[in-house]
Amino acid sequence: MLVKVVLMGPQGCGKGTQAELLVKEFGFKHFSTGDVLRARSKVDDALGREIKEIMLRGELVPPRIINSIVSEAVKSFDDLLFDGFPRNLDQAELLSSLTGVDSVVEIVISDDEAVRRISARRVCESCGKSFNLLTLPPKVDGVCDACGGRLVQRADDQPEAIRKRLSIYHEETEPLKDYYSNRGVPVFEINGEQSIEAVFADIKKVLSPLFDKP
Ligand code: AMP
Repeated sequence: MLVKVVLMGPQGCGKGTQAELLVKEFGFKHFSTGDVLRARSKVDDALGREIKEIMLRGELVPPRIINSIVSEAVKSFDDLLFDGFPRNLDQAELLSSLTGVDSVVEIVISDDEAVRRISARRVCESCGKSFNLLTLPPKVDGVCDACGGRLVQRADDQPEAIRKRLSIYHEETEPLKDYYSNRGVPVFEINGEQSIEAVFADIKKVLSPLFDKP
């Protein structure tokens, strides 16, 4: 049976980094709505420009855009790791109408820690790999370890947009923990204020039973 896991947590909690490790460990297909939308926003047409403006403000893109992206991804015959989706109750209902969820993992960090980390975040403008000047610096200043591309700060990682995104997380995304536990889906809260390896070990422990791994 295919495994579906929702990975959630406030901006800067290390979701992207953990998702990469989980893909290697368990063979998930990583489905990040943020990554899909960022790629689409680079296309210079009406939809691309609309997505770009919404993302710049740190707001959520509307259902008509998200729904088609998600419906397409859920058709995949892979174990899926949802990252950045669902973000509110409507999206959780949409996902429930398409597929069941086996587990929800939330990586928990404080708002202060989130702002500190996000301000230090850099992404490669060519391949999209993430770095963090505090926790995961590149080998050479300003240069991507993977492809040699230039490292830049995401436009929505500016303070005003960060605050907006954190408040949306608390108001709209956090309640999904109750949504899932009320439906009998296990929700695991992982302390995200530990080393990358320790966070990964904690997540691995709670997800391993889904793959019958010791
Ligand atoms: P992320 O990379 O997950 O932090 O997402 C970056 C931005 O993409 C968000 O601030 C939203 O503007 C948009 N976005 C990502 N996922 C969703 C989603 N599930 N629903 C609506 N907007 C989203």
